[in-house]
Amino acid sequence: MLSFGYVGTFRAGLRCVCDDLLMAERKALIDSIGAEAAGWRRTLHQNPQTMYEETFACAFVAEKLKQWGIPHETGVGKTGVVATIDGRSPESGRAIAFRADIDALDIQEETGLPWASQNKGKMHACGHDGHTATVLALGRYLQQTRNFRGRVQLIFQPAEEGGRGAERMVADGLLERYPFDEIYGFHNFPYRPIGEFWIRSGFMMAATDFFSIQLHGRGGHAAIPQVCDDLILASTQIVSAFQGLVSRELNPLSSAVLSVTNLLSGTGASNVMPSSASLSGTVRCFEADVRNQLEARMRTVISGVADMHCLKHTFAYNRITDAVSNPAEFVDYSVAAVERVFGKEAIHTQEPVMGGEDFGYFLERRPGSFIFVGQGDAEDPSSPHSQGLHTPGYDFNDAINPLVVEYFAELAETRLAR
Ligand SMILES: [Zn+2]
Ligand SMILES: [Zn+2]
Repeated sequence: MLSFGYVGTFRAGLRCVCDDLLMAERKALIDSIGAEAAGWRRTLHQNPQTMYEETFACAFVAEKLKQWGIPHETGVGKTGVVATIDGRSPESGRAIAFRADIDALDIQEETGLPWASQNKGKMHACGHDGHTATVLALGRYLQQTRNFRGRVQLIFQPAEEGGRGAERMVADGLLERYPFDEIYGFHNFPYRPIGEFWIRSGFMMAATDFFSIQLHGRGGHAAIPQVCDDLILASTQIVSAFQGLVSRELNPLSSAVLSVTNLLSGTGASNVMPSSASLSGTVRCFEADVRNQLEARMRTVISGVADMHCLKHTFAYNRITDAVSNPAEFVDYSVAAVERVFGKEAIHTQEPVMGGEDFGYFLERRPGSFIFVGQGDAEDPSSPHSQGLHTPGYDFNDAINPLVVEYFAELAETRLAR
């Protein structure tokens, strides 16, 4: 085991040769943990489970933590795990949290890799297996070194993919039972080369909402429209009116997407008017007032069109994830940490994306930051590490595990400096 006894003493002063030596020492330890962590990640990858059924990941994480003597509790938010690591001088009363998500997706894997999913129709296609292994590796490092003052909480969150797992953990008393002042998270990013860190202040990822609409009316003979209702016409009028909500009613400087992704109606026959139609899709935006406005106006459009055609209707609008907005001060901490460890060239400014991430729920309650870490293989675009998230050919790149652990370790050791 390597010694880290002097890091805190030197860190208090100006950066010097000793700092570089100690960072090299830290890197060596983290790299050795990372080599082992690739094995954990592949085991997790073989055993993917979705939304509150992540019993394998929960038990795996708990087993590792137990093995290393890290206090933890399972069952937080049903299948979540929270671990607690105290620094050498925990009395500071300050705590920071690092979060990993543990759930997989309903996708049939097509990578053909030796560690491919053993669960039919389930796959770690968003790299949460890698996030879990990374935060586990961080725990291993912090427990061995404990070169910080205060407490670190490791949060292993279930149901990130559309299950509001963050909210469920908070509802289960996360903030009271394991209090923390700041929270940090990351997502692997196959769209950028390995080793690049991408972050921005303010809105970085959109709020994600799903909606579904059911229309019911009188079906009938297609040649006698006067005695039946036209569900197809009504459906297309709704779709058409939706297009105006973003383009004509929002401030052009606000951003939103409203996509109807399913429109199901009809029997297949050319001479039958259907008696029902269902539409569903997604809304993405950043600001809370835009979100409220779109939901309210969609409701008005749907009931207006339904009334016009004398149809019965239902409308369900589900808020799946809240926008990820990074407070500027905490982005500064993250940028400084990346720069210290990897140099200025490693950090980049991310454009806002319309993808969603449940981490936003934590950021609405505690300050912190969320960062993307490139994992793509620039030499080989066909590599599984370069495939898009949520695609059947994707695989987490284990090489980013130690990079993220170094970044998180730097954050822990500076935000909780001894
Ligand atoms: Zn995902
Ligand atoms: Zn994800």
